[in-house]
Amino acid sequence: MPKSRALRQAPLDSLQGAGEKTVGRLHKLGIFSLQDLLLHLPIRYEDRSKLTPLGALQPGRAALVEGDVELTDVAGTTRRSLICRISDGTGFLNLRFFHFRPEQLRILNSLGRIRCFGEVRAGAHGLEMVHPEYEGLNGSASPPLESGLTPVYPTTDGLRQQSLRRFIGQALRFAQHDSDDPAEFPAHLSPVLDAMSWWEAVRCLHRPADLHPDTLETARRRLAYEELLAHHLSLARFRTEIRRQSAPMLRANSSLKESFIAGLPFALTGAQQRVIGEIEADLCSGRPMMRLLQGDVGSGKTVIAAHAALTAAANGWQTALMAPTELLAEQHFRTFSAWLQPAGISTILLTGKLKGQARRSTLAVIAAGNAGLVIGTHALFQDAVAFHRLGLTVIDEQHRFGVHQRLALRDKAHPDTVLPHQLVMTATPIPRTLAILGYADLDCSVIDELPPGRTPVVTSVIPSPRRQEIIDRIGSWVAAGRQAYWVCTLIEESEALQCEAAENTAASLAEALPGLRIRLLHGRMSSTEKDSVMQEFKGGRSDILVATTVIEVGVDVPNAGLMIIENPERLGLAQLHQLRGRVGRGPGDAYCILLYQPPLSAVGKERLKILKDSSDGFVIAEKDLELRGPGEFLGIRQTGLARFRIADLARDNDLLDAVTANAERLLERHPELVAQLLNRWVEQGLQYVGA
Ligand code: ADP
Ligand code: MG
Repeated sequence: MPKSRALRQAPLDSLQGAGEKTVGRLHKLGIFSLQDLLLHLPIRYEDRSKLTPLGALQPGRAALVEGDVELTDVAGTTRRSLICRISDGTGFLNLRFFHFRPEQLRILNSLGRIRCFGEVRAGAHGLEMVHPEYEGLNGSASPPLESGLTPVYPTTDGLRQQSLRRFIGQALRFAQHDSDDPAEFPAHLSPVLDAMSWWEAVRCLHRPADLHPDTLETARRRLAYEELLAHHLSLARFRTEIRRQSAPMLRANSSLKESFIAGLPFALTGAQQRVIGEIEADLCSGRPMMRLLQGDVGSGKTVIAAHAALTAAANGWQTALMAPTELLAEQHFRTFSAWLQPAGISTILLTGKLKGQARRSTLAVIAAGNAGLVIGTHALFQDAVAFHRLGLTVIDEQHRFGVHQRLALRDKAHPDTVLPHQLVMTATPIPRTLAILGYADLDCSVIDELPPGRTPVVTSVIPSPRRQEIIDRIGSWVAAGRQAYWVCTLIEESEALQCEAAENTAASLAEALPGLRIRLLHGRMSSTEKDSVMQEFKGGRSDILVATTVIEVGVDVPNAGLMIIENPERLGLAQLHQLRGRVGRGPGDAYCILLYQPPLSAVGKERLKILKDSSDGFVIAEKDLELRGPGEFLGIRQTGLARFRIADLARDNDLLDAVTANAERLLERHPELVAQLLNRWVEQGLQYVGA
């Protein structure tokens, strides 16, 4: 048994002084074993290794001091506090306690000389420390000072720093008996790993001898490297497992392909042709395709999915396409039906609203294999949906789904011996950093070219007091025969509130712009209602569509070239970019107005400016990542990324290339090491990535 297992599994109740309650609090911090304790790193350090003379204290700094108690008193009328004044010949200091027991007065007096640690601040009567830690020094002999720095850990209610320090101390002692690194790396794999051993790094971070930032950073990076490596290995191993399975051999059918392309209302762009080629190669390889297709909004991903479905059907296999909303599923249903019908492929729609007999008969058609392409929402996951021969799954707008869902749809093919191919499409450009970490199990294709004739969207950032100006502008815009979107956003997750906001906006616009045909679209409408509102707008029979963010994905109305987004500061840049992608889809000018609520923070201003200055989804995503950090960028769940304990994607970005390269080497040459690393770092993380 590898030794790391002993540490990993060493239960917390083996800690001295940790009762049931304490163990519960440790769990709250994500600590379940002694190994987790060792990986619970300090957020900062305090220097208690030297005494500061009272005369040399500076406000704003923490310090360790000693002094004789001169007087103690209770002061203040409204907010009483206990004051204890100490002095050491160089100066004096007031210790102030707002919470105190009456007998503390006597106790402090009796101590004579005390040592305390705390942050110094300027008080009304000279420098003071509020609620310092203190101990009495009986007699004149001072106890020895701490030799290193004192770590300060992130903690939770009811768990004191001292207790955490004690537990971590126990874990370190326990580990000392066991101090061979069970996961020993071959030498010269990376200078980051060579710089320190695992134990050295762990010890150095918990018990630093000096606060040299370089040493601490070397230790932190040593651990971060391992963590990133382990995370990457888990996805890579998953990928290897999938690659070992077989998948239906789907050969390209050139005559079908030719007539499909000839039937399209446009010519494919070079990028589209290239990606179609990449997918064709995957589909006939006999191994399951695992491909992520990234392409900015409007880059034309749909036709690529249609071509893949055509290839599957030509070989007698079914395709399941999953869309994040009913609106988009329905729009896809119309598009795909029109494109695939001529090839004799039947497309069927399965959404949540399909009920009763209609649902049962749709399920029967799917199970009998009489539908070549099944388009649906989450409803496709339901156990009742059985395919006759599922050969390909397509997931549109992946960022709306979790990694679990992506993997669950693959399971639809079990218990067959072959796995279906998988194509994952997203318009949310995934910064390279995240792609490496979150999608290491997928190959990647990028459509880096927009279809011709797209007008760049002119974006302006305008404060809400200028709302009237914008309303006037809508008036003349519509008078010129164009249509517009007005998007309402709310910070609350509540859909009810969002809809209410949209209703209010629609009402006030109707008042301000009499005679204009204003329609409302929000998530609480039935899908039939939504559908008819959309069709009306698409057909030019309404002028302004006031909507919640439900229109974020996929909706396509070329004549609507103006979009107002209210409170854009509340949304992520990626989401704003998606929304803006609804305009500029046809001939004529296109505008997007970001109508924000002042005042904006400096970062808030910078974010909106990024959007104004760039129309490249990848650039926007990278910048957003810099400003906000990946968790906020897509949401941990949406990125499918585990939360890292030590690695910090902004700080450790430069490690990723080496991590990727080394992961490959280790998988090939050191499988036992891989197992140990996964055991150390990813066991819980695997729940996130779903492997
Ligand atoms: P997305 O990548 O956002 O899913 P779509 O596939 O919905 O984009 O395509 C956006 C619009 O562009 C659709 O109206 C589609 O018919 C059109 N389109 C796709 N490819 C081309 C092309 N090569 N030339 C012109 N228009 C295209
Ligand atoms: Mg799309």
